[in-house]
Amino acid sequence: MEKKRNAFKAYLEFNVLYKILIGLIVGAIVGVILASAGVTSLPAWISMFGTIFTRLLKMIIIPMIVGSLVVGASSVSPANVGKIGVRVVIIYLLTSACGVIIGLVMANIFRPHAALAAVEALAAGAAGKTGSTDVWSVISNIIPTSVLTSLVNETVLQVIFFALVFGLCLSFLKVSKNERIAAAASTTYQIFDCLTEVMMMVVRGIMQYAPIGVAVLICEVFAKNGAKVAGALVMVVVACFIGYAIHIVVVYGGLLKIYRIKIGPFFKEARTPFITAFVTRSSNGTLPTTMTAAENLGIDKEVYAFSLPLGATINMDGTAIYQGVCAFFLVMSCFGRGLTIGEMGMITLLATLASIGTAGVPGAGAIMLAMVMQGIGMPIAEGTILAGAYAMILGIDALLDMGRTALNVTGDLTCTACIAKRMKFLTKDSVLAK
Ligand code: ASP
Repeated sequence: MEKKRNAFKAYLEFNVLYKILIGLIVGAIVGVILASAGVTSLPAWISMFGTIFTRLLKMIIIPMIVGSLVVGASSVSPANVGKIGVRVVIIYLLTSACGVIIGLVMANIFRPHAALAAVEALAAGAAGKTGSTDVWSVISNIIPTSVLTSLVNETVLQVIFFALVFGLCLSFLKVSKNERIAAAASTTYQIFDCLTEVMMMVVRGIMQYAPIGVAVLICEVFAKNGAKVAGALVMVVVACFIGYAIHIVVVYGGLLKIYRIKIGPFFKEARTPFITAFVTRSSNGTLPTTMTAAENLGIDKEVYAFSLPLGATINMDGTAIYQGVCAFFLVMSCFGRGLTIGEMGMITLLATLASIGTAGVPGAGAIMLAMVMQGIGMPIAEGTILAGAYAMILGIDALLDMGRTALNVTGDLTCTACIAKRMKFLTKDSVLAK
């Protein structure tokens, strides 16, 4: 009994990151062995451990968004809210748009596609059904008609919108001259602050379970795809990962250079959230780690408490790159042609919006890919060849998701560091100030 307790204590005390990495490697190796032995799926009771992990991450998403965004938005002083908020949103949108463009360029260079021409008749059927391309309703839908319905249906964009409005108003009321209102606002702030702290604690608990969940999930991917991961899908992975790398070097490297931030010390701190995001595939799950990195970089809490939770939910550069590459893959595989300029423009717009609406949990980007395809008039309808090609992407989504989440989180930290430096929201000894 005593021994068991000690082993458990040792497990808890062992560095979470290493534990998750070990889980990842063990899961991948077992998956490859299973695939080579012809075992393509895991028994349901083992699979359940992976499902538990994804469900736990999904469980935290809404309370985490509400708590962290309300606290973040109300932590910014009314005098700075406009300046910080507008800058953060603009830089997030611009970097995401760059992401889609890089993704589309990569796709045009690598031209990833599977030869699915044999089922052309079905393809024609899918192409015939045009979906709506009404970007305007996508935008107006951001405003909820019922906050409770948005919370219950987990409509992420609407929840973000309301949490921000609520938090911003709270920041004004906190400094109201009317004592009664100021006191009530402070109490409300404390309640949301407590909610956020509780959620952070839940996340830390989930991270202790993550090695097991990650091992099972990755094992399933490798067992299912084994040798099949080769060929067309390898090209998708290569195009995405080269896109991710280019984005880090060109966009983030460029931003850091423009804002005169030393790359070495920055990436020394950014490394931990990067790896955590890579293995957990969740921007929201990585949030406590990203916040610690921002703190270590000497960024003022007023900026990062607002920009990081917002970034974890709306800034998804990796997801944007992935959308560009995969949309190309789907069209090329199913219709034997690349994308037209018009389609590329539409994808850039839709994928930027989709990356905003993507929740920071594993696999969310893949769901948004379906929305982008719908937007360009190629809905992924059941039984069509598009659905088949989409299923292929889903098969390797875990791999793609690792890279894109790592990029998403690095983007949040990079943009936050740049804004903080620009607006001089840095501590005296901040490494960014040097
Ligand atoms: N997993 C990603 C994230 O948490 C979202 C996505 O699936 O693209 O940032």
